[in-house]
Amino acid sequence: MSTPAPLPVNPPAGRPAPDVDAPRRVLTVPILMYHYISVPPPDADKYRVDLSVSPDMFDQQLAYLAENGFSTVSLYALLEHLSIGAPLPPRPVVLTFDDGYRDNYENAFPLLKKYGFIGTFFVVSDFINAGRPEYMTWDMVREMAEAGMSIESHSRTHPDLRGRSFQFLVWEILGPIEAITHHTGRRPHFFCYPAGKYDRDVIAVLESVETWAAVTTNPGRRQTLDTAMTWPRVRVHGGGSLRDFARLVN
Ligand SMILES: [Zn+2]
Repeated sequence: MSTPAPLPVNPPAGRPAPDVDAPRRVLTVPILMYHYISVPPPDADKYRVDLSVSPDMFDQQLAYLAENGFSTVSLYALLEHLSIGAPLPPRPVVLTFDDGYRDNYENAFPLLKKYGFIGTFFVVSDFINAGRPEYMTWDMVREMAEAGMSIESHSRTHPDLRGRSFQFLVWEILGPIEAITHHTGRRPHFFCYPAGKYDRDVIAVLESVETWAAVTTNPGRRQTLDTAMTWPRVRVHGGGSLRDFARLVN
């Protein structure tokens, strides 16, 4: 009788211990930052318009990535490459979605599946717990996790985390880790700073609860292990053309 194969674990059960080459590894992978994937309402202000990529444009962007040989990868893959040199597919790109809007499930998720792509979704646990209709439900989040999407933390209530007490930071940071683990069966290890704001205390608490890397709104595309708590991203502006998008990933 053969031993049953171990159950697949995604994300990996433990953080890969960095090897001797780890301090020298540098990646330049675009971590794209999206928010809404929908046509903004007619009364939307300029901020909402800028944060909204239409489903049609998102479809075109994914088609562009597919036709030009890009592979979508998770933040786990970046971390594994930087830590132990695990190979990455050709032309890697990370797709991240902030805030957990319901249109991510309704519009982005079907298009990602159409192209066989994956995304990383940073959710705000209390917004989901409150059942707010503009945000995804736990059922939606679970379905996406089971389809291979990464569900990661964007804090409990989306506050500015700078200058806060230790107790407050633990409440904001630990809560969503427990909630996401409970609802998806997968323990998140990445964090997205609400409004891109952070300080040394925030980073210390994140590291103390096994956060492996965190993304900011700082522009850039250079990742090292040393800078894992402040990885930059590439903002995809609403209303941009496909040519603008091509410039972001090339
Ligand atoms: Zn946010």
